[in-house]
Amino acid sequence: QQIYTKGLEKSRTGFAARFNKFLANFRSVDEDFFEDLEETLVGADVGFDMAIKISDDLREEVKLENVHRPEDVRDVIIKKMVDMYEADGVNEDATMHFNVNGTTVILLVGVNGVGKTTTIGKLSTKYQQQGKSVLLAAADTFRAGATKQLQEWGIRAGVPVVAGKEKADPASVVFEAVAKARDEHYDILFVDTAGRLQNNVNLMQELEKMKRIIKREIPGAPHEVLLVLDATTGQNALQQAKLFKNSSDVTGIVLTKMDGTAKGGIVFAIRNDMQLPVKWVGFGEKASDLREFKPEEFIYGMFK
Ligand code: GDP
Repeated sequence: QQIYTKGLEKSRTGFAARFNKFLANFRSVDEDFFEDLEETLVGADVGFDMAIKISDDLREEVKLENVHRPEDVRDVIIKKMVDMYEADGVNEDATMHFNVNGTTVILLVGVNGVGKTTTIGKLSTKYQQQGKSVLLAAADTFRAGATKQLQEWGIRAGVPVVAGKEKADPASVVFEAVAKARDEHYDILFVDTAGRLQNNVNLMQELEKMKRIIKREIPGAPHEVLLVLDATTGQNALQQAKLFKNSSDVTGIVLTKMDGTAKGGIVFAIRNDMQLPVKWVGFGEKASDLREFKPEEFIYGMFK
């Protein structure tokens, strides 16, 4: 059993330490125990509904299995959380979708500062190392410096970047990049998009336009629309998720900055509220600080 350790230090010292202390303070599994358990889970951003559900289910289990020692309860809770995460997403496909006969187009969306560019840098490095040819499109022409930042990642990962002039129409950058990727047979094209929140309508229209162009040039594309969310923003990340889910066809979530929060439980709130699979977890600023999300490993990592 491989468990996440790196990058979850804060969650473990925050959540797990609190949880263990909470278990140590109890002599028996009684009503107070369940109330405190709910509080601890809500404090870890698991979300209110989920916390109540875990605690209710656990009550039943405690009766059935005759579990009385708080330390035995930990294993039941971990198992419960894994079961609940997996049951919620029973019909979903959490793996990455690839185009089997042509370029795979992967769009990254999300508000400014959540880690879109960084995630593209990390994913490019990963796929490049697997021997895939990767092209990047700098379609955030709005934020000064965004293109340069992507170009720096391009250099680091050794992959070319298609960029436009500052304030150029992002759709024209996308068009150029998609045509190049298709004609030169790149395996993967990552598109970095703008994330200004001041004007949602324009942003959503801009994303729509990009998707239309991508689809026109490569039928079936984009193959993934990954919504990037910053785990440190807690319940705020959920609001953003709703905004983007309603207007873009999001296929999965990238949860970044897990190294900066003790509230890893947000993964559950996202799963529960959004019905979208978390595909990747970011836990640092380096190229290697990205991992595929595996619920079981993740949950064990939070508790141990
Ligand atoms: P974008 O505006 O969505 O493209 O966000 P950026 O990729 O520019 O990231 C914003 C900041 O967050 C940068 O300083 C990144 O280095 C940092 N960042 C991104 N992902 C992570 C992560 O997983 N952990 C930490 N600690 N920092 C991150």
